[in-house]
Amino acid sequence: MNLVQALGEQLGKDKVFVGEEILAKYLSDASLLPPTVPVALVRPTSTSDVSATLRLCNAERWPIVIQGGLTGLVGGAHPRCDEIAIAMDRMSKIEEIDIVNRTMTVQAGATLEQVQRAAAQAGLFYGVDLGARGTCTIGGNVATNAGGVQVLRYGMTRQQVAGIEAVLADGTIVNSMSKVLKNNTGYDWPQLVTGSEGTLAVITRVCLRLMPTPKPVLAALCAAGSVENALVVCRRLQETFDGNLVTYEGMWRSYMEAGEHWGLLTAPFGSAPTVTLLIEAALGLDGDARALFESTLFEMLEEGLLHDALIAQSEADRRRFWQYREANYEYYRHAPKEFHYDVGIPLDRLATYVETIEASASRTLPQGRLIVYGHLGDGNLHIAAYPADPAQDIAPFEMALYSAVQDCGGSISAEHGIGIKKIDQLAYSRSAAELALMRAIKHAIDPYDILNRGRVLTANA
Ligand SMILES: Cc1cc2nc3c(=O)[nH]c(=O)nc-3n(C[C@H](O)[C@H](O)[C@H](O)COP(=O)(O)OP(=O)(O)OC[C@H]3O[C@@H](n4cnc5c(N)ncnc54)[C@H](O)[C@@H]3O)c2cc1C
Repeated sequence: MNLVQALGEQLGKDKVFVGEEILAKYLSDASLLPPTVPVALVRPTSTSDVSATLRLCNAERWPIVIQGGLTGLVGGAHPRCDEIAIAMDRMSKIEEIDIVNRTMTVQAGATLEQVQRAAAQAGLFYGVDLGARGTCTIGGNVATNAGGVQVLRYGMTRQQVAGIEAVLADGTIVNSMSKVLKNNTGYDWPQLVTGSEGTLAVITRVCLRLMPTPKPVLAALCAAGSVENALVVCRRLQETFDGNLVTYEGMWRSYMEAGEHWGLLTAPFGSAPTVTLLIEAALGLDGDARALFESTLFEMLEEGLLHDALIAQSEADRRRFWQYREANYEYYRHAPKEFHYDVGIPLDRLATYVETIEASASRTLPQGRLIVYGHLGDGNLHIAAYPADPAQDIAPFEMALYSAVQDCGGSISAEHGIGIKKIDQLAYSRSAAELALMRAIKHAIDPYDILNRGRVLTANA
């Protein structure tokens, strides 16, 4: 009996799909790699289904790829034609909200938005938010240690993980679903799995930490004349707002100009400033909160740290401000080819880093376009390069971009992960000793390299 038949026998035929039975949505993720039909698609409904699948695949040393909401941007969940794909979308239950311990227990296929809503209905709050909230899953968020637009205040997904249930390559179920806040009992397996991009285990359930509901946010769109000033503003707002600065997003002049050029936005301040800032602070909406928000920004205008500021007077204004930041989701449709980067830069090196890559782009991508934006308060820049000629070799620009990351001790992937797409660049951010340690851990847990083979670490490493 072959492996696909054995999976059908073991799990039931309604959970195993082949060829044209596999819907198009499972054939690619958001990395824009060409759609690929895997050998089979398994859609488990329980942890024991996942365990049985891995046991059978491991016995055959058959590679598998794990799929959450398929919103990943680096090809981590993108199937290959020799792989069996495991889609976690049928395991999407919110199992429990524990008010006393402030935790939520969910199956890995629950979407981020489901979790946010369930927390809100229970009068609590989940601290991660990102544009793909309606589709990305908690399992995918944990596997990629997703960041998003509130990291400044609540941290990344790692900070929200209390416990994990996961299945190892040989089918062993490891239950580490403790809810306790303090747990110093040896190696922290849930934290090791977090950010491992499906290379160490299939995450089946997660125990998430919840918070008290924060006050509603006040929002502003501001113009800063320099990156240095924008960073001073960020520090001052964090201090003045007592840690309640939630969002501090930056859009460089190049970003606003590209949006205008493609008819996707109209710059809010006439000619675009060096950096346009989207700021949100969870201060509440009462008169005192508004007065503090407005007077703080006004002081900064008077000091010349900001050149202009628009303060949202309504939820509609706030949503309109977000349209500037989210316009980038459409940019790639307007240029023949986009190359996207997601780097983490120490804040004190941010201004120089952007100058370095802009200079390098004008040398290596003549007549092309380079845009910079992202989670400025976190030092997390998203960079998109659009060569004038789509056939142009991007390698010299990429080498300059990644070398500059290395020179300033930054990260070549701040939040999207390594997946398939960034595997050759990992050594810009990780030393030989770190890579050897990662390979040793991978080999100890998944000796036949069946889990997400060829992602993060090169195949058969
Ligand atoms: C519009 C848009 C906005 C985005 N904004 C952000 C942002 O602000 N911050 C950010 O960090 N990312 C962002 N992303 C990227 C993406 O949404 C995140 O990486 C997200 O965490 C992926 O979740 P997913 O469920 O879609 O995972 P998938 O894309 O399905 O998978 C991602 C990786 O996780 C693995 N994986 C998935 N589920 C499991 C599981 N149960 N067990 C083990 N491994 C698993 C996969 O094998 C793959 O390696 C954005 C993407 C889009 C399209």
